Amino acid sequence: MPPPSQPTFPPAPISGDLSRTAVGGSCSLPPSNAPAGHCADGSHAAGGSLKLFQNTVQLTRMQTDTDVIIIGAGPAGLTAAQYGARSNLSVLALEQLAPGGQLLLIDTLENYPGIAAGKTGFDLSEDLRRQAESFGAKFLTEQVQALGKEGGIFTVTLANGQTRAAPVVIIATGAKHRTLDIPGEKEFSGRGVSYCATCDGPFFKDKKIFVVGGGDAACDEAQYLSKLSSRVIMIHRRQRFRAQKALAQRVQDNPNIQVRFDTVMKEIKGGGDGPGGGKVTSVVLADTHGGPPYEESADAVFIFTGMIPQTSLVTGAGGLTVETDEAGYIVTDGRMATSVPGLFAAGDVRATPFRQIVTAAGDGAVAAHCAAAYIDSLKGQAY
Ligand SMILES: Cc1cc2nc3c(=O)[nH]c(=O)nc-3n(C[C@H](O)[C@H](O)[C@H](O)COP(=O)(O)OP(=O)(O)OC[C@H]3O[C@@H](n4cnc5c(N)ncnc54)[C@H](O)[C@@H]3O)c2cc1C
Repeated sequence: MPPPSQPTFPPAPISGDLSRTAVGGSCSLPPSNAPAGHCADGSHAAGGSLKLFQNTVQLTRMQTDTDVIIIGAGPAGLTAAQYGARSNLSVLALEQLAPGGQLLLIDTLENYPGIAAGKTGFDLSEDLRRQAESFGAKFLTEQVQALGKEGGIFTVTLANGQTRAAPVVIIATGAKHRTLDIPGEKEFSGRGVSYCATCDGPFFKDKKIFVVGGGDAACDEAQYLSKLSSRVIMIHRRQRFRAQKALAQRVQDNPNIQVRFDTVMKEIKGGGDGPGGGKVTSVVLADTHGGPPYEESADAVFIFTGMIPQTSLVTGAGGLTVETDEAGYIVTDGRMATSVPGLFAAGDVRATPFRQIVTAAGDGAVAAHCAAAYIDSLKGQAY
């Protein structure tokens, strides 16, 4: 472990005689900020305070590197870093790639509040990072490989083998869209291939749009796209939709959506002189029952075959297990607190009905605010 840069909890304010600790229901070392006769948590010195005080002792002995560690610097992590640092906490944000997360995949961002003229995802990422740094947040480009908790302190293990410790962790590792892994998908991502109808649909008004998928998200997004274009074609590899019945029926009744079951997309083709090497011009499809693949013109391909929340750090491998929903997203309360005390989650990685930059940023702000309150409560116990 590197030398701790900012020990958060004083190394040893436990002045001397621990044998007096909470014996016989009294609370020794009453904190200076607690009213006389009260324990550090504000409770009276009853027998029940023994465990609390023991925890306190552990916390004060531990060395921490920073108040808050944020894992992931997408919009959720970047906003949490800014709000945390502005609350006067020492904040360390760990990002395996470059700050920005999925923002970096967005060519033109139109729906983030206050950016009437639009902005690239890269520019917004840079602004968010600079803003957080201006309040004192620190960023480190490192992948977190494991997360554990012992004695009230979290330890993160980095890919370079080092560790960092903090009493609070905000996990903001996002979610990844499932990809089709077909030729052309990666190449034309952001240039006709999209994973977000709300984000990119308006760029394809009155165009020929293919939608791949058969679940709730695919049906929902196809409905949304059908308001922008009367030429929406849904491709689903099975014989029927997996989506809720009512949703599936609405899609099938929609005159702007043509549904092709038992069909798979084999390739996405493109060309032209546009930036980055052109845009989507056609797709290659095939019937799952056989028959030769056929090519058809296309302006856009929206892929909704599911999301994969990035939760490997908190699903047992590193010793820490948090509650997740049936789809694997981290369950939080309204304060972004997870089932593990001191561990907060924000953004696409958590169970939420809507995954956007604005919601991720909002989650990040709430998580940092509540993390600060959590740390205050710990300090109340320790000092
Ligand atoms: C192509 C595309 C277009 C979109 N367009 C829009 C749009 O127009 N408007 C809109 O509002 N939303 C849009 N979205 C959705 C939006 O980008 C996401 O909802 C948002 O980025 C989620 O933010 P996040 O911080 O929760 O997660 P992410 O943005 O996913 O960030 C998570 C970060 O965590 C890092 N990370 C993960 N694991 C680790 C680890 N172990 N160690 C260190 N770092 C780690 C990742 O590298 C990543 O940088 C779009 C998404 C895509 C893919």
